[in-house]
Amino acid sequence: MKKSRRRFLQNSLVLVPALGCAPLSYLNGEAKKPLVLSTWDSGVIANAGAWPVLQSEGRALDAVEQGGIAIEDHISCCVGLGGNPDRDGFVTLDACIMDEKANCGSVAFLERIKHPVSVARKVMEETPHVMLVGEGAQQFALEQGFPLEDGKLSPDAEKAYKKWLEKSAYKPVKNIERTQLNKGKGPYAPSMFDDGSFNHDTMGTICIDSHGDLSGMCTTSGMGFKMRGRVGDSPIIGSGLFVDNEAGAAVATGQGEEIIRISGCHLVVELMRNGATPQDACEKAIARIVKRDPVKAKDFQACFIAINKKGEHGAFAVHPGFNYTISDMTQENKVLDSKSYFS
Ligand code: ASP
Repeated sequence: MKKSRRRFLQNSLVLVPALGCAPLSYLNGEAKKPLVLSTWDSGVIANAGAWPVLQSEGRALDAVEQGGIAIEDHISCCVGLGGNPDRDGFVTLDACIMDEKANCGSVAFLERIKHPVSVARKVMEETPHVMLVGEGAQQFALEQGFPLEDGKLSPDAEKAYKKWLEKSAYKPVKNIERTQLNKGKGPYAPSMFDDGSFNHDTMGTICIDSHGDLSGMCTTSGMGFKMRGRVGDSPIIGSGLFVDNEAGAAVATGQGEEIIRISGCHLVVELMRNGATPQDACEKAIARIVKRDPVKAKDFQACFIAINKKGEHGAFAVHPGFNYTISDMTQENKVLDSKSYFS
């Protein structure tokens, strides 16, 4: 399993094409478009899903959906049906998507459906609503032709859940484990670490297409071992994701409750509208989270990535350990370490 994951990543690192097949916008000198940015190093999978759409001058919305599908397909990831379950042993999924016209769709507390990002898109396109949750979201997904999966935990998640049941302590600590504890073991963190702490790895993807339009998506199994029914920031438009085609796009990962308290991604985009660079905007939003409770902030992780209309990007986190993946016409997938409030 581990070997095949590594092989997939090695392959995905060469999926970004050489300049010989660059779209016209690049040849005209707009080097920053198209551009796709995803949370974490597992963003190489999402970006590899999104890139073919962008490369063929497709729509940002289609690109981010393909990014979400690619990561949800990856059963060993803490996203989609392979993720950690809630404390009662059920995997519950949250996702949302937003396009350049502020059309948006979202699902939360969705069970046994493999591609919540695509269900979210259907909510956006086929209903008069923005958000469907729980049984209603599942019923809608089935009506739309999504198959009902068996609901079994992935082998990694099952192992982590059994271990978690020994103490049943909700202990999501910080995401710092990803690069610090997992050093040398490849880009994926296991579902649970030896000290009993566990990971939470929302996949957020934002992009600008060759026409200059922005879109974003966010997909997650949420915090592992959460209370049944708990929903975090990820499916909430304005908290886990926000796109404004005039100003920019932002997506979040980390402790959802803290991100919701400041309507995080809306704040990041609004700061960009008022002139902040994506980097400044992410830093200001993280500072606002920390300022609310600097003591508590020592124990949780929260992170933003953002892009603006010019194709500039930024990232910032409460703690070290957050990284993100960027792909554009000038480079292969590049995993970058984010700066953070605390060092
Ligand atoms: N933001 C997600 C949530 O709170 C978790 C994560 O990013 O890993 O559900």
